[in-house]
Amino acid sequence: MKTRSWIALCSILFTTSIALPVLSAQSGIEPIVLKAKTVYDGTGRTLHDVNIIIRGSVISEVGCEIPTDAIIYDLRGLTVTPGWIDTHSHILWHFNEGRLAGSDEQPLQAILYGVDNAILTLNAGFTTIQSPGSPTDAYLRDAIKRGVIPGPRIRTSLQPLTEKSGTPDQLRALVDKRKQQGADFIKLFASQSIRDGGAQTMTDAQLQAACGEATKVGLRTMVHAHSAAAAKAATLAGCTSVEHGAYVTDDVFRLMAEHGTFYDPNIGLVLQNYIENKAKFLGIGNYNAEGFAFMEKGEAITKETFKRALKIKGLKIDYGTDAVAGAHGRNGEEFIVRVRDGGEDPMAGIVSATSLSAASMGMQDQIGSIAPGMQADIIAMDGDPLKDPTSIRRVVFVMKGGTVFKNVVSNAGGTPNPARR
Ligand SMILES: [Zn+2]
Repeated sequence: MKTRSWIALCSILFTTSIALPVLSAQSGIEPIVLKAKTVYDGTGRTLHDVNIIIRGSVISEVGCEIPTDAIIYDLRGLTVTPGWIDTHSHILWHFNEGRLAGSDEQPLQAILYGVDNAILTLNAGFTTIQSPGSPTDAYLRDAIKRGVIPGPRIRTSLQPLTEKSGTPDQLRALVDKRKQQGADFIKLFASQSIRDGGAQTMTDAQLQAACGEATKVGLRTMVHAHSAAAAKAATLAGCTSVEHGAYVTDDVFRLMAEHGTFYDPNIGLVLQNYIENKAKFLGIGNYNAEGFAFMEKGEAITKETFKRALKIKGLKIDYGTDAVAGAHGRNGEEFIVRVRDGGEDPMAGIVSATSLSAASMGMQDQIGSIAPGMQADIIAMDGDPLKDPTSIRRVVFVMKGGTVFKNVVSNAGGTPNPARR
C-alpha cells in the first residue's frame, strides 16, 4: 500500500473539525488533547505534528488548535494509531491450574478469567474485539459496556451454528433466535477443524439458508472454513467473512475478492500459542498427538496461503488472531508474523487491524480511524511499526471511547502525565 503523507502546516491552517456543541455543553467535560508527532490514521495516511482533540467519547478535531482548559497528553515520542481490532478472539478461553479450563468450571470463576483476558487485550492496544462462538460472552460484553471494567468493546455471536444445527429451515429459525438473544453476528462452522483435516461440513444449502437469513435480519456472518470448497460455498452464499482458510485456492480467493467476502487469515498467534502451550491442551478433545502434528504442519501452510492471498487484487484481508487460552494480550503477534514472515506491507497491516477490520464488522463509521466524529479509540506505541513491527508489543497509551485506560512511561521517554495548559 502506498503511504500518503500529510504535512500539517499549522501556521497556514490545518484543521478539520465538526461542531459538537451539544456534547460539550451537556457533559461539561474538559477536552482532552493528544499531541502527536506521527499518526498513522488507520486509512493508510500519515499525519505529522497534529493535535487530536477529544470531547466526551469522540474525536472532535484533528489539527493544530489547543482549546483552553484542555487536559494535554504529550505523545510526541511515540507512534499514534487508532485502537486496533481483533475480529476473532475467544475472550473467555483460559487456563486453570495449568490446563485448558472446561465447562465443569465454576461460572463465576470463568467470567473473572474473562475479565483478566479483557484487561490484557485492552492493554495490548486492542480496543475492539469480536468473539465468535460462546454463549456467555454477552455477560462480559455488557459488563464492559457499563464502563467500569476495563476491556475492549466486544461483539459476540453467542452459540455458533454447525452442520448439526438442523435443516435449512431450522437454521433460519436459529439465526432469528440468536438475533433475539442479542447476538451481534452469526458464527458458522462450515468445515472441520484444522486438527481434523478441514473438509467442508455444512452443505451449500445450509450455508445459503443461514447466511441468507442473517443478511435478511441485518446480521453479519463469520464462517470457519479451511477447505477451498467450504470457503467457496460460504462466498456464494453471501456470507461476510471466511475465517482461517488454510487450504483456500487462488481461484476461490479471486471469487471472494469479487464478492467482497473478507478473509481472516489467523497466521501469527493461534497455532504458535497451541504449540507453546501444548501440555496445557494435550489430551482434551481433538487436542491429541495427531491434532498437534496437523497444527505443526499448519503453521507453514497458513503462512504460504497468506502470501498467496496478498497477491489477489481486491481481496479484503482483515485482522483476526483466533486468540485462545494463553494468547490474550498477545494479539499484536499476528501483525509481526504477517509483516515479518508473510511479507505484508506494514502500513497495509495497520489498515487491516484498524479501518478494514472495522469495515468487516460494519463499524467503519465509528471505529478504526482517527478523524473527527469517530470514537476516540487511540493508542500510542514506543517505536515505529513501519520500521519495527515489534513496536506493537510496546503499547504504552490506550484510550477507548475518550477514556484513558493505560498511560505508562515508555523507554523513549515522553511525558505520559497529563498537563493542563
Ligand atoms: Zn476461532
